Amino acid sequence: MSDKFFGFLCIKYFDPTMIFELIPLNMADADVIINNVKELLTKAFNATVKILKLAKVPSDFKNVYRDQYNAALLLRWIRNLRTEDGTIVLGIADVDAYVDGLNFVFGIASDVDNAALVFLPRLRFLADADKFMDRIKKEVVHEVGHVFGLKHCNNVLCVMYFSNSIYDTDRKNFKFCSRCYSNLIKQGYYVNSSYVINDNI
Ligand SMILES: [Zn+2]
Ligand SMILES: [Zn+2]
Repeated sequence: MSDKFFGFLCIKYFDPTMIFELIPLNMADADVIINNVKELLTKAFNATVKILKLAKVPSDFKNVYRDQYNAALLLRWIRNLRTEDGTIVLGIADVDAYVDGLNFVFGIASDVDNAALVFLPRLRFLADADKFMDRIKKEVVHEVGHVFGLKHCNNVLCVMYFSNSIYDTDRKNFKFCSRCYSNLIKQGYYVNSSYVINDNI
């Protein structure tokens, strides 16, 4: 492959508008996690990542009877924290959250609002630092997949598989199956090959 051809591929897939605004929420020690997520988004999606300052989620969104935050309301709130138009807002929140009909959620996303949230407390279950980070990575890629329009996938190893419990998260990969990957590519998204399962479907 000539350099010229390779250059063309880079230009074709590089989307200068792919900017994430990463917001740590209610986190005690945000630096390590936020820097890891930044690195992940940069590598996986060729994105530019802007880290916003630590914020606190409004206590109004807490359901006192459940002692959990309403994820849908948080998502509506966080989309307004973006500092420039056209960015993707991603909140990493150290609060437990739910949506109606589910006991809890690991994350939530909207492709219409270009916004997503990942909730940390349930990802800590019986995890050392490495496992915790691994789970965060999977949930971040999963929610970004939703922002890019992907639905849940029935391949248990694909990152887009719905995690009903932490065991589903542990079993699945942080990578997209080839079907989800080709769906993203068709839409013009860049995904680094190290975030794709080599399953040759
Ligand atoms: Zn999902
Ligand atoms: Zn898939």
